[in-house]
Amino acid sequence: MNDPANIFNFGAGPAMMPTFLEQLAEDIINYKTTGMSVAELSHRAKEYMEIFADTRDSFKELLNVPDDYEIIFTSGGASSEFGNIVRNLMSADDIAAYINTGYWSNMAFKTAKKFQDDGLVGLIADIDGLDKKNGLVSLRKISIEEFTPNPAYAHITANETIGGIQYQKFPDTGYVPLVADMSSELFTREFDVSDFGLVYACAQKNFGFAGFSVVIAKKKILEGVLPGTLDIENYAKLAENDSAINTPPTVAVYTAGLVADYIKKNGGVREMARQAEQRSRIIYEVIDNSNGFYKSPVHPDVRSKVNIPFILPEELKSEFEKEAADNGLLTLGGHRSIGGLRASMYVGMPIQGAEKLARFMVYFADKKK
Ligand code: PMP
Repeated sequence: MNDPANIFNFGAGPAMMPTFLEQLAEDIINYKTTGMSVAELSHRAKEYMEIFADTRDSFKELLNVPDDYEIIFTSGGASSEFGNIVRNLMSADDIAAYINTGYWSNMAFKTAKKFQDDGLVGLIADIDGLDKKNGLVSLRKISIEEFTPNPAYAHITANETIGGIQYQKFPDTGYVPLVADMSSELFTREFDVSDFGLVYACAQKNFGFAGFSVVIAKKKILEGVLPGTLDIENYAKLAENDSAINTPPTVAVYTAGLVADYIKKNGGVREMARQAEQRSRIIYEVIDNSNGFYKSPVHPDVRSKVNIPFILPEELKSEFEKEAADNGLLTLGGHRSIGGLRASMYVGMPIQGAEKLARFMVYFADKKK
């Protein structure tokens, strides 16, 4: 069998997990000597209520979440939140501004647009946030005047997982609440929650299992929902009910708590951000020093520290992927919508993974030149 210590998974999510799996394995069999699996615990049991509270408190501590914000855990991926955000933040005549920077911001926009098409909300504005600099994709500075008057919120995708574009500085939306999809970057950068009305992220990249998300929202903006919204989609109701209106994804909440403990023990978000910077620098240096053998389509000003798309001569792509996989460097294929290659490196990726990939890239380029 392959030794997991030599295997690095560069998949965009579900992604490589930090090294807490032994604890998880133990607790899946017998949680704290209860004789029961952590998966068997009732969501109303004292043990689970402690798990939930610990996970929520760890998120609050790590992300410095102010007291006037709710931390809500939801079932479903970030795609479910695309709709829930509209249900919770808009009313009948409201408008919302979506800044489009690639695949995922466009998916969020398209979901919101359905509510407009169904006559449930006013306008959903699609604002092009991209720019081109020297033939490379970049981000444009957005000014508040571009928003249709008084939107309920402005939505961004903080890091485009597929395009590999990341805001280095978030747009200043003034009085308009900024809503950010942080699915691929939560815990890998420092940011000030109070600059946002709401941030959300699915778990399968930086804090555990797919099918589970976190929403961090300013209490003040959670007043009222669109007619027809279910309680399980209602953020204020979820917050009131400890995110357990129905049976929550208990093992995912527990796993997120293990990841949060890992981050706490390993220097907090500041250290995770430093590691993301270091890992990505190692790979970008190889790309930039390869005399054009590898190319990044993204301008250096906005390159992502967690998802690095790159290309090499098309005819060598499958050989690269196969040989990389034979060497324990897995899931380097680009997203099916754009092809190429992509290295995703989240909280669970050790520096050694980036170093090993960099060595392989140099070796492969030298061999082919
Ligand atoms: N937003 C971003 C930025 C993503 O990367 C993804 C998943 N790759 C999603 C949303 C969708 O997440 P899910 O598949 O959990 O719905």
